[in-house]
Amino acid sequence: MKLVCVGRNYAAHIEELKNQRPDSPVLFIKPDSAILPREQDFYLPDFSKEIHYELELLVRIDKVGKHIAPEFAHTYYSQLSVGLDFTARDLQQSLKEQGLPWEKAKGFDGSAVIGEWVPKSRFEGRDHLEFTLERNGETVQRGDTRHMLWKTDELIAYISTFFTLKKGDIIFTGTPAGVGQVMPNDYLSGKLEGMELFSLNVK
Ligand code: ZN
Repeated sequence: MKLVCVGRNYAAHIEELKNQRPDSPVLFIKPDSAILPREQDFYLPDFSKEIHYELELLVRIDKVGKHIAPEFAHTYYSQLSVGLDFTARDLQQSLKEQGLPWEKAKGFDGSAVIGEWVPKSRFEGRDHLEFTLERNGETVQRGDTRHMLWKTDELIAYISTFFTLKKGDIIFTGTPAGVGQVMPNDYLSGKLEGMELFSLNVK
């Protein structure tokens, strides 16, 4: 399985990192070895001095699809969650400046935190979802799917024109504003519509 991640999908986050607003979704992939096993602590890697948290809404793909039309995209997933796209920001910045791929900064071991899955039917009738990240009990990121530049169904359609989506693949739909550095002994917890779906310690 693969993790397909979307960059620059919230205007306020694009501004905080002083990036250009893209004409089409920015995509990158994390390998399955990036997944931090449940209940495990996150160990800060020694190749970076600046690991950032990025809280994101996650979607899990239920069936194989290629060239999915946006109006049918909703039939390709039934489970939602929140997770973290841990990013070695210092390394990413240096790779960006050199025009090189981001994989080392984005796909390292433990860089993908995946919360418990919740059936999307639970949110039927809601036209937007809110999600939050708490760091040591203080809310540091607040996301609202209304502010996505590309909505989930548009992302699935777009992604599937490049990469066949398979059952079990997970899409990281991009981070809202408020990203920041994690420190040793931080305790992070992620919520979707008030439900805590993951928590972890940083070592
Ligand atoms: Zn991200």
